Amino acid sequence: MFTSKIKDFIKSRSPKTPYLIVDLSEVKKKYDILTAQLPFADCYYSIKANPAPQVIKLLNSLGSSFDTASINEIKNCLELGVKPEKIIFGNTIKKENHIKDAFRLGVKYYTFDTDKELDKITRSAPGCNVFCRITTSNQGAQWSLSRKFGCDERQAVSLLKQAQTNGLIPYGVSFHVGSQQTNSAAWRYALSKTSEIIKKLLSKNINVSCINIGGGFPAQYSEKILPLKDHTETIKKSLIDLFGVNGLPKIIIEPGRYIVAEAGVIVSEVLLVRNDLHKKGIRWIYLDAGKFNGLHEAGITRYPIKTDYPDNNPAGDVILAGPTCDGDDVLYDKNLKLPLSIKIGDKVCVLSAGAYTNTYSSINFNGFKPLKEYYI
Ligand SMILES: *Cc1c(COP(=O)(O)O)cnc(C)c1O
Repeated sequence: MFTSKIKDFIKSRSPKTPYLIVDLSEVKKKYDILTAQLPFADCYYSIKANPAPQVIKLLNSLGSSFDTASINEIKNCLELGVKPEKIIFGNTIKKENHIKDAFRLGVKYYTFDTDKELDKITRSAPGCNVFCRITTSNQGAQWSLSRKFGCDERQAVSLLKQAQTNGLIPYGVSFHVGSQQTNSAAWRYALSKTSEIIKKLLSKNINVSCINIGGGFPAQYSEKILPLKDHTETIKKSLIDLFGVNGLPKIIIEPGRYIVAEAGVIVSEVLLVRNDLHKKGIRWIYLDAGKFNGLHEAGITRYPIKTDYPDNNPAGDVILAGPTCDGDDVLYDKNLKLPLSIKIGDKVCVLSAGAYTNTYSSINFNGFKPLKEYYI
């Protein structure tokens, strides 16, 4: 979102490009919308989407909990005042030492999807609560999160049973329908798989009380998407169909992208325009922001791009590229039109860039620094 706060900042402060600017009031707005649409769910913000202290502090003050993937993410949260009981150590692939450290720091929720990982948790976080992560269809998502993680239903039943035998609390089943999921059916499908597992365990007197439905809630980029409500209504309806109004388990959501993406804009500058590379008439525009300083997802994620030229300015096809000496540092090589009058020094703003950008910056590739960040 190109909020007036962001526009004013760009105009009046005009810092050196490239940089990421995030309007925190938009982050709050998204948190409020999502939690209002799923009032029965506990929200664990998945901090890998944007771990800036300003974002974590804001969400902590609003009552959010946090999904983390590493001991350093856990320590970052704790240093910012997050209570350890509000943290899930959600990565299914952990160093055992880090489990031990997290346990010592008071973290009580851990995720696993194999017997070997369960063994590590049993040894290093005795008595804690565990989630077993299942694979599910990621169809309809821009980024799959099922190929690398999860187990099948049969394994989930036997692993959660094993967890109880090991003295752990078989707390929940978790899944992730894939990031930027645009198909509501993905949640319905995963929930019905989950309910089978929970029922099977109940028949063995094992009471799994929670479903962690992960993230995947989509942000608005260039392509039109269904309103969030379509997804949240499907989730609600599926839960009621599967468990009944009075039998609902505890529900956890772990949104990342949805909460922060639209609140951020990457502001960059045109370094060079050329028309004569390879084919005549194909215009290349090179920016000071590229795949190595924030726009790693470009190409797949269709970020809306804005310039200072009015919308009715004649526009033409461009190939948009980053500044490094890497041939892959091309953001878009088709389906993008920009004003014909664009020139060196003009600002180019990449919208909906608040998620999966700042921490995807490389440290010093080609001597380029990570993105500067401003939170207003
Ligand atoms: C990345 C991740 C999320 C957040 O996913 P989004 O698509 O950004 O909402 C949630 N849960 C887990 C376990 C993750 O790895």
